[in-house]
Amino acid sequence: MKTYAYAATAADKPLAPFSFERRALRSNDVAIEIMYCGVCHSDLHTARNDWSWTNYPIVVGHEIVGRVIEVGPDVTRHKVGDHVAVGTMVDSCQHCDQCHKGEEQLCRDGNTQTFAGVDRISGEPTMGGYAKHIVTREEFVLHIPQGLDLAKVGPLLCAGATTYSPLRTWNVGPGSRVGVIGMGGLGHMAIKLAVALGAHVTVLSRSAKKEADAKTLGAESFVVSNDEAAMTKAASSFDLIIDTVPAKHDLTPYLPLLDIDGTLCVVGQIGPLDELNSLPLLLGRRRVAGSAIAGIAQTQEMLEFCARMNVLPDIEMIRIDQINEAFERLERSDVHYRFVIDMASLTQS
Ligand code: NAP
Ligand code: ZN
Repeated sequence: MKTYAYAATAADKPLAPFSFERRALRSNDVAIEIMYCGVCHSDLHTARNDWSWTNYPIVVGHEIVGRVIEVGPDVTRHKVGDHVAVGTMVDSCQHCDQCHKGEEQLCRDGNTQTFAGVDRISGEPTMGGYAKHIVTREEFVLHIPQGLDLAKVGPLLCAGATTYSPLRTWNVGPGSRVGVIGMGGLGHMAIKLAVALGAHVTVLSRSAKKEADAKTLGAESFVVSNDEAAMTKAASSFDLIIDTVPAKHDLTPYLPLLDIDGTLCVVGQIGPLDELNSLPLLLGRRRVAGSAIAGIAQTQEMLEFCARMNVLPDIEMIRIDQINEAFERLERSDVHYRFVIDMASLTQS
């Protein structure tokens, strides 16, 4: 199936119109016409080759919402006309202990990423959601619960899933004290989800101007992270801190903010961090952990939770031809708080 898209062709070039063939449907595949796709900082990292693993041309995007237009003969979970979603993974081995547990993101053989991955059957590079269509095996296609605004669902698939997962891993619930470092796409979902789970949430941000928005999103407190006095005052006050910062940085100033046995979970920076001082870890039996996306079952659970609790991202809807400007704004942390591409604009452009 021929599909239209916007692709990155080099690290220093803007995304540009592109067309390519989506694979013919396999027996367990679902073909989806994409309606909306969220813009994750991982899209920008990949387009710019920040992680040195990008092969060009590449179509990024892993917060995909659309309509089923065709199904393979063995598909049982989805039917033509359903509204569905695809997140950051499109396949895994399906045989290992982690896949059996529904933790496909931890597949022993490595999960297949929605873009910049390698198709497990054809060996071709996977291409993401800044496109008119996607073809995905049915197990990796999510149901969108009734009542969720389709235009806003996209960011739940990555920003939502990636922050929901550590909140569940560390049993956040009523009374939990949660800190969120960085108030961007992931950070603002971490706030909303933690609040919906009943936690007291504090935002730790470089940007004092985000305080009013943080409170509107449900945070009770706001600490400007380079205000030393405010950071000292916040000592020993968190059970869990979720760190969404997308760049190399120093965790050490945040560690004393954890209470005894508290955990700082890194979800933002993928790669080196600054040197760590172990003293606050030892003295408070504190932990530094990491977490990547979420399994399919937990992503589905998160979608149901969001539908029940009316949790949706704050979005700015853009046309596909505004994507390069959106990337520049994302780089400057100037987004309130997730861009979503209206894919109808692709046909028009
Ligand atoms: P984003 O919208 O750009 O938000 C990041 C926020 O971090 C910014 O709004 C800013 O908040 C803060 N920040 C930005 N640059 C910073 C710097 N140099 N130093 C300190 N703080 C900085 O990005 P996102 O889409 O939320 O993604 C965040 C990161 O998560 C990216 O690196 C992405 O690749 C990664 N990611 C990981 C997973 C996973 O599975 N673990 C999944 C998706 C994304 P303030 O202005 O409030 O400080
Ligand atoms: Zn993402």
